[in-house]
Amino acid sequence: MALNIAIDGPAGAGKSTIAKLLSKKLGIVYVDTGAMYRTIALYLLEKKADLEDEASVESMLGDININITHNEDGMHIFLNDRDVTAMIRDEAVGNAASKTSAYACVRQKLLSLQRDIAAECDCVMDGRDIGSFILPDAQVKIYLTASVQARTQRRYDELKGKGEDPVWDEIMSGISQRDEQDMNRKISPLVQAEDAVYLDSSDMDIGQVVDRIIEISTQKGALTR
Ligand code: C5P
Repeated sequence: MALNIAIDGPAGAGKSTIAKLLSKKLGIVYVDTGAMYRTIALYLLEKKADLEDEASVESMLGDININITHNEDGMHIFLNDRDVTAMIRDEAVGNAASKTSAYACVRQKLLSLQRDIAAECDCVMDGRDIGSFILPDAQVKIYLTASVQARTQRRYDELKGKGEDPVWDEIMSGISQRDEQDMNRKISPLVQAEDAVYLDSSDMDIGQVVDRIIEISTQKGALTR
């Protein structure tokens, strides 16, 4: 069986940064499942779909082809052969993804893609339901979270660093709204899997979190090969 490390948690907890670094350190693949939901959302936004209308969203899913590649600078995601890796980082795409990821048809479309990658590759996979639903047998499961305040600060700094002019209150309400949607949806809500290790990164830096996950993985015997 491939080595699977599942990292779940709310928006802005640092999952992708941590998962990316961790996968590099371990020499395994990083799989960003949020990017898959974002890619579907990007397609729907571009087609001006009514995101509130599940039936209409479902009718468009057959036109969406998602492919993943990995190279030195990480995972690239393709929407119908177009590299959308950068475009999907937009806040509007993230908020739309949070809305459409609540639909069973959307989750079903991505289920086998995620499971197939994990069966074939040693990987760190991050998302919301990886440990609790997608990969119930993952050798290591982490529930990574941080306070809303800390998560807002991180996203704010990230956007500032990109030369954007973020508004604190908008980011905070976006994060809170996303938490609300992700934790309270009927299908695959964000929950801590029973056998996941809870990590609050509010007062930890990236290196500390990565080291802690390596420590946990070693204790679980997942890295001894
Ligand atoms: O992690 P990221 O912010 O990129 O995810 C975007 C949205 O995709 C989340 O708010 C969540 O609603 C959805 N998502 C999900 N299940 C996953 C990964 C992401 O529902 N495994």
